[in-house]
Amino acid sequence: MTVVFSNPLPIPVLGFCAYSGTGKTTLLKQLIPALNQRGIRLAVIKHAHHNFDVDIPGKDSFEMRKAGAKQVLVASHVRWALMTEDPVEDDPKLQHLLRQIEADKVDIVLVEGFKKLALPKIELHRAAHNKPLIHVHDDNIVAIACCEDTQVPDSLTRLDLNNVAQIADFVEHYKNSWQAPKAQLPICFNDADIPKPTGSEQGISVSQGISTVLSQVLPTRETELVDLIDIDNRVLAHDIISEINVPQQTNSAMDGYAFAFDNLSKAPLKVVAEVLAGHHYPNVLQSGEAVRIMTGATVPQGADTIQPRELTQEQDNQLTLLEAEHITKGQHVRLAGEDIAQGEVALAAGSRLGAAELGLMASLGFNRLPIFKRPVVAVFSTGDEVSQPGDELKPNCIYDANRYTILSMAKKLGCQVIDLGIIDDNEQTLTSTLSDAATKADIVISSGGVSVGNADYIKMALANVGSTHFWRINMRPGRPLAVGKIDQSLFFGLPGNPVAVMVSFMQFVQPAIRKLAGETQWQPQFIPAIAAQPLRSKTGRTEFLRGVYSIADNGQIQVKTTGAQGSGMLNSMVNANCLIVIADDTASIPAGESVFIQPFADLL
Ligand code: AMP
Ligand code: MG
Repeated sequence: MTVVFSNPLPIPVLGFCAYSGTGKTTLLKQLIPALNQRGIRLAVIKHAHHNFDVDIPGKDSFEMRKAGAKQVLVASHVRWALMTEDPVEDDPKLQHLLRQIEADKVDIVLVEGFKKLALPKIELHRAAHNKPLIHVHDDNIVAIACCEDTQVPDSLTRLDLNNVAQIADFVEHYKNSWQAPKAQLPICFNDADIPKPTGSEQGISVSQGISTVLSQVLPTRETELVDLIDIDNRVLAHDIISEINVPQQTNSAMDGYAFAFDNLSKAPLKVVAEVLAGHHYPNVLQSGEAVRIMTGATVPQGADTIQPRELTQEQDNQLTLLEAEHITKGQHVRLAGEDIAQGEVALAAGSRLGAAELGLMASLGFNRLPIFKRPVVAVFSTGDEVSQPGDELKPNCIYDANRYTILSMAKKLGCQVIDLGIIDDNEQTLTSTLSDAATKADIVISSGGVSVGNADYIKMALANVGSTHFWRINMRPGRPLAVGKIDQSLFFGLPGNPVAVMVSFMQFVQPAIRKLAGETQWQPQFIPAIAAQPLRSKTGRTEFLRGVYSIADNGQIQVKTTGAQGSGMLNSMVNANCLIVIADDTASIPAGESVFIQPFADLL
């Protein structure tokens, strides 16, 4: 029996199981004080039989529950108890019970009973009782506490059932060495964790594809100095070190009065001056003095605390402080350098320069920055049926959508783009287009013509000018993908179906552009959301459903699909605000379960 235990808590859970009469409760009653003595705070979940009750007839709480309240919570200043009427067919669900534990109040949960449930357990065994061993059919047993005459396999820790200190040592060690399982993202970005492909027949996983693509990308070294005002979503080439303190002077965060906290007892204080932003008080504040001060104005020497104007009264230069008992030393004072100190790295090389970063650089006085050269991306479409928007649509043809989605996403990533139009499906034109594009662009992207059954011109043309691999990626949509090199340029042959194009671009081209551009944080964000409907996939491939996430009434992020998911239906992208990503080891996700989403965020 191997059922994986998924612990919903950030603390370890350890069970104690045995046939009844072995002495579980007796042991726990001794173990709990022994663990408490070691400073370990415990929660215990105990399995009980039948219709147990913790309340007493006649108590108000008992009577209210009997009157029909589904939950009764009794609380005093020393303890509280929540009683819930929750009749279920079988045993109560351990996961649900564990979620009731307040993990910040305890260090480990001990579970007594629940013999059949999958969770790490210590088995208690007395050979004299002639009961079978549980570990032979339960892989979750980590140790056996028993007497001398029990046989214990080498793979399990042997504990002495009568030696409480030894068992406490084991529990303490278990707690200390326990590590919270890391959230398993549906796509893996750490090369060491990506399994190698098992054979060309099977195709490769999304993770393998990304890692192989990235291994071919060298970050650009070319930099340029650009005026701050002209920088738009570019990548910083060097660490920027602040030459000044921000703020430069210690100043007031409020309109109010500045004084020394130690002078509070000398109130009323004497108002000796008014300090406006951009000015300062030339003298040192003396005992019993205050200044009227505006937001942003330098706090005079001798003052360390500000009281907002609305909590003061001033008459004839005499200042009365209201609610003086709430004043804390240093309140409403912004210290020099508290945002950024002189000499500190204010922004690291590889940062993408958005509105906040540009504002920060400006606040440090920089009007130009060293930034990496923009990647140049050239894009063309192929296919006899593909027509130019604006032209008349010939029978059996479709308008070119892919060039527009690709160019738009590349621009959003800060690239300079070259539109090569629609290229005729013949070997000669494609060959010259590719070799010409490679002289102008760092990345050349085509769409269409890479799936089996296509006119093979793009393959032949690529073979003439560079090295390319045609991959089958275990994903939907977007199975076929060509990746290669033409001289120093990277080539991507994306599939033809418009949704497959966008999804493949997001997963493979986006990280390549970000790495090439010198960005250090290129990994896409994954956010857990609750599936508002059952989501279907298939093991062996990564599913990218188009989703709409929103905040549910209970405050959780929930996600549903946009409906029909055909890989040619651009409407499914238009109506979506995220991709729902289902890992290749998952067949389906029931409604109410957690699933990872990739919000489109800044790309679409
Ligand atoms: P292919 O991979 O060339 O067989 O194309 C797969 C599907 O995508 C076909 O239905 C094509 O008509 C369609 N397709 C190919 N290129 C484009 C394009 N640039 N814009 C819109 N649809 C396209
Ligand atoms: Mg085609």
